[in-house]
Amino acid sequence: MFDYKAAFQTAVEQVRTEGRYRVFADLKRVQGRFPLATRRREDGSEQDVVVWCSNDYLGMGQHPSVLEAMKSAVDESGAGAGGTRNISGTTRSAVDLEAELASWHRKEAALLMTSGYVANEATLTALQRIMPGLIIFSDSLNHASMIAGIRNGGCERHVFLHNDLQHLETLLAAAPADSPKLIAFESVYSMDGDIADLKGTIALAKKYGAMTYLDEVHAVGLYGETGAGVAERDGVLDGIDIIECTLGKAIGVMGGYIAADAVIVDAVRSWAAGFIFTTSLPPALTAGALASVRHLKAHPELRAAHQERAETLKQRFAAAGIPVMPSESHIVPVFVGDPVHAKMISDMLLEDHGIYVQPINYPTVPKGTERLRFTPSPNHDDGMMDALVTAMDRLWTHCNVARMPRAA
Ligand code: PMP
Repeated sequence: MFDYKAAFQTAVEQVRTEGRYRVFADLKRVQGRFPLATRRREDGSEQDVVVWCSNDYLGMGQHPSVLEAMKSAVDESGAGAGGTRNISGTTRSAVDLEAELASWHRKEAALLMTSGYVANEATLTALQRIMPGLIIFSDSLNHASMIAGIRNGGCERHVFLHNDLQHLETLLAAAPADSPKLIAFESVYSMDGDIADLKGTIALAKKYGAMTYLDEVHAVGLYGETGAGVAERDGVLDGIDIIECTLGKAIGVMGGYIAADAVIVDAVRSWAAGFIFTTSLPPALTAGALASVRHLKAHPELRAAHQERAETLKQRFAAAGIPVMPSESHIVPVFVGDPVHAKMISDMLLEDHGIYVQPINYPTVPKGTERLRFTPSPNHDDGMMDALVTAMDRLWTHCNVARMPRAA
C-alpha cells in the first residue's frame, strides 16, 4: 500500500535540500507598540524585538481608529459574516467598504475578496472564462498569485522581460490584432522596490487594443495624493482597467479587492469561483479596513514620513558601505548574495541585537541575489535606526560580506 507518511517526509526533505525550508519567527505584536514585538524562542523564553520586515508599512494594524472600528464591529455584528456574499454574507460594512474603495481608485465599482492572493487568482482565472481566446501578457516578475490565476485559465500567455516595454511591444505586435488582450503587471515590485512605467504600459495597451490589469498591493495607501497608489501618483487611474490591491499591507488588516468599471466587476462577481464559493470577510475586518482607508486618505503626512524613513535608511546604509540595492520605492533591499550568509546575518541580528529581518532566498528571488529586505515605517525612530545600522556594520565585518564603497 502507498506509504503516505514517506511521501510527506520526502516532500519536506526536498525543500530542506534545496535550502528552502522555512522556520517561522513566533511573534506577538503588542498593541500600540509597532514595530516592537515579543518573540518566543524555541526554548520558550521571550525576547523583545524591533520588526524591520513587516508589510504593515504604516503601522495601521495598530492604529487606534482601526482597532476601535474592529472592536465595535465585533460588538455590533459578531465574529463572522455568516455566509458567502450570495448567501447572507453581504454585510453592511463590506458594501460600504466597496463603495469607499471604488471612489478611492476613481472607479465605478470594487469587489472584495478573501485576500490579495485570492483577488489575483480568482480574477485572472475568471477573465479567461469571460473572454475565451484572451491572450495575457505577464511581467516576468509578477507575483505567484497572478501566475496561478493566469495558468489556471489555460489561455495563451506570453511573459515579457521585467519592466521591458520594448519586449512587451514586440509580443503585442505579434498577436492577432482582433484578439482580446490583457497586460498584467505590478506597480511596485516588492523584492527589488522598482516601479513600473505605468504611462508607457498604458500607451502600449491603447496602441494594441489591450486591457490593463495592475497589482498595486505594495503601493496602495503609500503613493498618490490620497494614497490610492502609483496610478494616482502618476495621474493615470483612468488608463488602468482593473486595479487589484490588498487590505493586508499598508491598510493593516486583511483581505483583497479589485476596482474597475461596473460591468467588469459585475462579470467577475458572476464568474470568479474564488469569490462566489467562499465565506465573505468578517464584519470586523471590513469595518477596520474602512476606518484605515478613510484615515489614509486624509493623512498624506503619513506617506511623507514613510518616504523620509525609507530614504534615510537607504542613505545611512550606503554611508556605512552596506550594499543597499537600487530601489525607487519604500522597500530597502540589502544585497548579500548567498543564502548561508543571509541566514547567518538574519539570525545574529535577531539573537544578539533584537532586530528581526527575514532573509529572502530562492525561489522568491533568483539564486545568487539573496538579500535582506527592510521595510522602515514612520514608527521606526532614529534610535531604532542607529541600532540597526550599527549592528549591520558590525555583522558585515564579522561575516566578511562584500561591501560597497562607502559614500564620501
Ligand atoms: N500581490 C503581490 C505583489 C504580493 O506581494 C502579495 C503578497 N505578498 C499578494 C499579491 C497577495 O496579497 P495578500 O497577502 O493580501 O494575499
